[in-house]
Amino acid sequence: MASQEIEALAGALARLPGLGPRSARRAVLWLVKRRETALVQLAEALETMRRSLVECGTCGNVDTVTPCAICSDPRRDARQLCVVEDVADLWALDRAHLFTGRYHVLGGRLSALDGIRPEDLSIGQLLDRVSAGGIEEVVLAMNATLEGQTTAYYLAERLEGMPVRLTQLAHGLPVGGELDYLDEGTLAQALRARRSVL
Ligand SMILES: [Zn+2]
Repeated sequence: MASQEIEALAGALARLPGLGPRSARRAVLWLVKRRETALVQLAEALETMRRSLVECGTCGNVDTVTPCAICSDPRRDARQLCVVEDVADLWALDRAHLFTGRYHVLGGRLSALDGIRPEDLSIGQLLDRVSAGGIEEVVLAMNATLEGQTTAYYLAERLEGMPVRLTQLAHGLPVGGELDYLDEGTLAQALRARRSVL
């Protein structure tokens, strides 16, 4: 039996994605053995992160500065705005280096089941950003779930009449995906989003 403090750390680590109680205990043991080196580094990195993380006042990204590094990067195309549900989606899209515009994080998706209404998301701020001008295209990059698509549809309605081009991710075939392994929804989307070959 370990002391309460050691158990508390193991319990906190066990809640991290990808770690279970077993690997959490192994990590704690590893840290205890390296308490003068790795444990100090980890504690300092966690404390620095705890002190400096802020939500970007413009887009909702999480960074150590606000406006965040993306919003204040002059090489980014301010005419393109990509709307995502969560910070995780922003990071995933940005890691792919395919989109060079800026982002807007809604902070979730509309959900009747979970009682999430339009006023619970940063939709007002999005409309303000678009109304302020300078944005030519809004990419609705919601997840291909029922709630994600409901949210995209709602946003499209709210943005209707504003002088911006509205686009949406084509939810198509995953790279390497074989047709007969795909569910009907994915196939139907892929067919609907089909484009000319030449
Ligand atoms: Zn930002």
